Amino acid sequence: MTQINTAALQKLDSAHYLHPFTDHTDLAKKGARIITKAQGVHIWDSNDNQILDGMSGLWCVNMGYGQQSLVDAATKQMQTLPFYNSFFNTSVEPAIELATLLSEITPPQFNHVFYSSSGSESNDTILRMVRRYWDMQGEKQRKTIISRKNAYHGSTVAGASLGGMTGMHEQGDLPIPGIVHIEQPYLREAVKDKPELKDLSEDEFGIVAAGWLEEKILEIGKDKVAAFIGEPVQGAGGVIIPPKTYWPEIQRICDKYGILLISDEVICGFGRLGTWFGCETMGTKPDFMTFAKGVTSGYIPLGGAMVSQRVVDVIYKDGDFNHGYTYSGHPVACAVALANIKLMQKLDIVNTVKNDTAPYLKKMFEALNDHPLVADAQTLGMVGGLVLVKDKDKNIGFDDDDNVGMICRGHCFDNGLVMRAVGDRMIIAPPLTMAHDNIDELLSKARKALDATLKDVS
Ligand code: PLP
Repeated sequence: MTQINTAALQKLDSAHYLHPFTDHTDLAKKGARIITKAQGVHIWDSNDNQILDGMSGLWCVNMGYGQQSLVDAATKQMQTLPFYNSFFNTSVEPAIELATLLSEITPPQFNHVFYSSSGSESNDTILRMVRRYWDMQGEKQRKTIISRKNAYHGSTVAGASLGGMTGMHEQGDLPIPGIVHIEQPYLREAVKDKPELKDLSEDEFGIVAAGWLEEKILEIGKDKVAAFIGEPVQGAGGVIIPPKTYWPEIQRICDKYGILLISDEVICGFGRLGTWFGCETMGTKPDFMTFAKGVTSGYIPLGGAMVSQRVVDVIYKDGDFNHGYTYSGHPVACAVALANIKLMQKLDIVNTVKNDTAPYLKKMFEALNDHPLVADAQTLGMVGGLVLVKDKDKNIGFDDDDNVGMICRGHCFDNGLVMRAVGDRMIIAPPLTMAHDNIDELLSKARKALDATLKDVS
């Protein structure tokens, strides 16, 4: 193997590469961690450190690294037909085959897919489809899409607007008109502004939080609201697992007002919650599902939107919908997705997650609740999150300036583990292929990182 000169690469990286979501002052000071190879559930950096990937890359490498069938599918397709588009009455075989397979594995209301290359583009697509749907229905005034604070739906103008990240809205005059946000279903955060909620059970709180949707609909005017969008579990917001009562109540409210429901499955899709799609865990029947990431296990970019029959019948009534991307239905990306889904089916990974891996992860991860720094360690399927607290007995949290999450993240890396920090929350989304011994490794490394963090903050 050629010797990698880490310092030289870091210098070039800092000089020329504008990274996504990165503090470039910090990057220039510390240099990037350069990842050079991966196998199974581990990655290696340029200094040859082996690190357990507790985040599946970026919530995407669901089937783990080094899956030869995905590599073979890409190679074969590149040799046969590396690209052709699907515009103007042309099509390509892998895109057709994948559309058929997606129609089989998604809930019954879905028989059609629109392809993109990312989650952001998929949500942009939805915004246009929702508006087109109501225009075609003769309800042109129905324009507003309701989302949630601290939601993440991507980085394009529509994606960032649909998302509820204030840090993103502040840079670039977002959200665009017609998108509004309600509070998220996160009790710990909600009581800061609404102390009267503190005695509610989780289930009671779920109904209250869903009720904020109805309040917003009535405030805007029920004939002006087009759709509601949400992640089944908010991922980038810090793995906020909603109360069990939340999503069924959201569904009831959407049905009551005839509002379209969009389930952003970019993280929760493709087995992450122990069902093929997150809406199946939550008990909703969305009109749209957006996906990306896990569809190819991140081996190659592909995104898309599943569009329900109810919507297809309206939008395509007159034939065309003027929308599309050069790479919609990219043959190589679709071939890799086909190989990925077929591998998932062959290994029966969704049932394995549901009946074995996720319950084991739950038992092990939630045991961290005994740590003096940890409150509220919870998992659902193969995502988990915990809150770092300053004083556990008095339930006092850290201040933003304490930077406790980033301190803990650093200790995770030092102990050979990727965990992500979101404010005072530490989160995981490991590959679905993790075996019990990988989960043991994850938890023992996490505990060491927590111990080291405790020393730093005490
Ligand atoms: N939606 C959700 C729920 C996501 O988590 C993400 C990315 O993390 C996106 C959309 C955007 O996807 P992409 O980064 O592929 O554009």
